[in-house]
Amino acid sequence: MPFGDMRDSLDKDVFVSGEQVQARYANDWSEAPAHLPEVVLRPRTIEELSQIMRLAQQTEQRIVTQGGRTGLAGGATPQQSEWALSVERMTKVLDIDPVGRTITVEAGTTVQQIQEAAAIHDLVFPLDLGARGSATAGGITATNAGGNQVIHYGVTRNLVLGMTAVLPDGEVMAQSNQLLKNNAGFDLKQLLIGTEGVLGVIATVTFRLFPKRDVVKTAFCAAQDFEAVKNLLHRASKSLIGLSSFEVLWDDYMAEITGLLGKPALFPKPYPFTILLEVEQATDDGQMEACLMSAVEDGVIANALIAQNEGQRKDFWSYRDAIAEILSDMSPNVNFDIGIPISKMNAFTKDVTKALHAQFPAIRHVTFGHIGDGNLHLSCTTGDEGDHVPIENLVFAKATAINGTITAEHGIGILKKPWLKDCRTTEEIALMKRLKKMLDPAQILNKGRVI
Ligand SMILES: Cc1cc2nc3c(=O)[nH]c(=O)nc-3n(C[C@H](O)[C@H](O)[C@H](O)COP(=O)(O)OP(=O)(O)OC[C@H]3O[C@@H](n4cnc5c(N)ncnc54)[C@H](O)[C@@H]3O)c2cc1C
Repeated sequence: MPFGDMRDSLDKDVFVSGEQVQARYANDWSEAPAHLPEVVLRPRTIEELSQIMRLAQQTEQRIVTQGGRTGLAGGATPQQSEWALSVERMTKVLDIDPVGRTITVEAGTTVQQIQEAAAIHDLVFPLDLGARGSATAGGITATNAGGNQVIHYGVTRNLVLGMTAVLPDGEVMAQSNQLLKNNAGFDLKQLLIGTEGVLGVIATVTFRLFPKRDVVKTAFCAAQDFEAVKNLLHRASKSLIGLSSFEVLWDDYMAEITGLLGKPALFPKPYPFTILLEVEQATDDGQMEACLMSAVEDGVIANALIAQNEGQRKDFWSYRDAIAEILSDMSPNVNFDIGIPISKMNAFTKDVTKALHAQFPAIRHVTFGHIGDGNLHLSCTTGDEGDHVPIENLVFAKATAINGTITAEHGIGILKKPWLKDCRTTEEIALMKRLKKMLDPAQILNKGRVI
């Protein structure tokens, strides 16, 4: 079926082509080269989504699904001759059950909208990330996003109860589960979680919600060495019941915060490690103060600051969320979201930094991450785009050599495909390909992502 017939089969405002295609559809947040698609398909309903996929199969038209395009692996950036399928008009909150603590939303609903809808009922949607205003329900599910509170609530996979998805041939897979426990047959939604849109398009998702804890305590701690960081994590995990975040900022990160961004230093002198930790509690029982005081008295941490009000808490988090501003000054940059066992993390960061400086003397880097989850972010630049792949080769080789993963949260997308074989077995990759072939033999949907 030629282009015109496909256009005629769909509602006028679903099929956007030519000059009406806006530049924003050309890329996601990654450094994958932008490509403006010839057509953007903007369904409002599952029926329209299904019709699009059926027509795409008939015409062998390649499609890439786009959510909020905040992805960092190039998965949502259109490739040559691909049309974009944007779920941006599917933004309804379909159901919220305050007692069962579930929310069902359309795929284009943003993380922030879900958080706000939950808050009306005194509930919390705990998946939180810097891109909350744009990242969508479908996008976080397709990438199995992590974020700032994984240590307490788990990754997106742990929050998804049900899903409706449209398979590459247009079939609708409705798994409208709201139950925490349901062992009836295969849990098919897992095929769509974390598979980066390769096996289908997510149309609706049912997520778990959690009771809102009225007391949120946030602190910054200073540590002289990584042993102290690990010791504090151990103590905090044991004594702080509602520990929800444990973020670590290395001294190279803090130097950019105070130097580049001009934010005030947190402590009278810089320390090798700054830890941002947060606890959510039903009542203020002084847990946080007691834990940090004993850590200071025992010589584990050198200093600690506890936010005294919501304004100060937000200010504390602004040090962590400022990464977006740092990165825009570090362009062109190489960003890593590797996973490393915490027992090996300090040796790894020292080894990698030394090797990077030896090979790229002009390198500038920041090190930070969700260390409570073993997830290390490293962002670097030499100012030379030509160094990108050699830097990736160096870091990925060292990460996989110690049983780490090349991506703990952002996914493989287009950009990390060459290294998938270094952290998955040949048999695993073969099985991934078999699943893809079974569901999408003509490779219509998100071709070339992941596998
Ligand atoms: C400032 C910033 C901070 C971030 N922080 C974190 C973080 O802490 N943790 C983390 O994990 N990630 C983080 N990210 C990465 C990004 O926000 C996540 O990957 C997010 O899940 C992407 O959602 P999205 O809606 O923007 O998806 P997109 O970027 O649009 O798409 C991402 C992938 O999912 C697929 N996809 C999108 N929607 C659907 C759908 N409905 N059905 C099927 N497939 C779909 C796309 O094809 C693509 O492969 C951050 C990004 C930014 C820019």
